[in-house]
Amino acid sequence: MYQRIEEVNSEDSVGKKVKVRGWIYRKRRSGKIVFIIVRDSTGIVQSIVEKNSVSNDDFKSAVKAGIESSVIVEGIVEKDERSPTGYEIKTTSFNVVSYAEPFPITEYQSDELLMNLRHLWLRSRKMTAIMKIRDTVFKGFHEFLRGEGFYEVHCPMFVSTAVEGGSTLFEVPYFGRKVYLTQSSQFYLETMIFSLEKVYTVAPSFRAEKSRTRRHLTEYWHGEAEAAWFSNEDMMKLEERMIEHIVELVIRERKNELDILGRDVESLKNVQAPFERIRYDKIVDIATEIGIDMEYGEDLGADEEREITKRFNAPVFITHFPAEIKPFYHRPDPENPSVVLCHDMLAPEGYGEIIGGGERIYEIEVLRKRLADEGWKEEDYYWYVDLRKYGSVPHAGFGLGMDRAVMWIAGLDHIKYAIPYPRTIRRVTP
Ligand code: ATP
Ligand code: MN
Repeated sequence: MYQRIEEVNSEDSVGKKVKVRGWIYRKRRSGKIVFIIVRDSTGIVQSIVEKNSVSNDDFKSAVKAGIESSVIVEGIVEKDERSPTGYEIKTTSFNVVSYAEPFPITEYQSDELLMNLRHLWLRSRKMTAIMKIRDTVFKGFHEFLRGEGFYEVHCPMFVSTAVEGGSTLFEVPYFGRKVYLTQSSQFYLETMIFSLEKVYTVAPSFRAEKSRTRRHLTEYWHGEAEAAWFSNEDMMKLEERMIEHIVELVIRERKNELDILGRDVESLKNVQAPFERIRYDKIVDIATEIGIDMEYGEDLGADEEREITKRFNAPVFITHFPAEIKPFYHRPDPENPSVVLCHDMLAPEGYGEIIGGGERIYEIEVLRKRLADEGWKEEDYYWYVDLRKYGSVPHAGFGLGMDRAVMWIAGLDHIKYAIPYPRTIRRVTP
């Protein structure tokens, strides 16, 4: 029986015999004592290996074993203020499962080297904390939508139609013809609302992003939902409660990890629904006010979003974008068809867009016109158009960039830290 290190670091374990297994995190020797900090997935604890308390062989192993060697440690738990966690193991047996070669990552390394050694860097305390927060963000997403009666479904990654426009499509050779990697599962989700009404999926989306920004990957995790009978406003109401739920869960379950990352938790506590809603035309005014050169009809770039969101301490929705800067499927506002019933949710503190969503066109004539305007061929989208022929209903949906949500909630300054193996224009290794 092995104990998790988390259990060892507790009042209940004091005076008890424990056995843990893990990896050497830090090590220091002082004569006849070797201080070894062992880590497992739950935490770290100091093992004191004294020459007189273990066999000769075990002492030799402790002296020889370097950082990242895998070990099994047995001993009695004692309290000691000087040890990093306040508890330590007075070791009676020290076994090395596998001696590590000198570990190539030391304290100060270039980002490039760390990215090349990503498979090893993932073991760091910082990356471990991020991966645990990521896990909680995904858990909160699933938990919330299932709680709201959404069914989880799965859509293809090889597709033959664009969702977000041609310029970011990845082509893949496919038995003598070309297919694409999906940019979004939205259209497939839309097909499923006619049976399940409320559906969601979490899957990769692929975009050939040529611009190098802090928040674009070429392969990212996309949490998407669609719901029959939902209006744009209904969807925003769902999303703000969802984001509030996810953030609360992270604050509750990942306090330690937020601490390790030095994340300012107070600002996360401001994330409470309802979020402010601002119309796009108002944003143009705000931008002008704060000295950003932005004209009506331009999309918000990263710089605009950063400046705007710095002024808010909770997420905000931007609504009613001009139709021409949004993909064809967005539903025009019946009161002013030059704008669409959609929304972007921008995360505060300069993080910017994390969600894009809105009502979808459900009237077949409107859809046909928008497809033609954008130069798409109806036959390529025959199945999408079909949905408007057989019992079409008003509906809405959203797409959440999961990695961007992690980046914001964990307080990271680049999206590449939010995912185990980031894919960008420059990097596909390891
Ligand atoms: P942006 O303007 O930031 O490029 P977008 O308008 O292209 O975003 P959508 O098509 O609305 O984004 O996609 C939905 C969500 O997916 C976005 O709000 C964002 O959180 C996320 N997302 C989009 N592109 C990327 C990417 N390249 N890397 C990571 N996340 C992305
Ligand atoms: Mn984009």
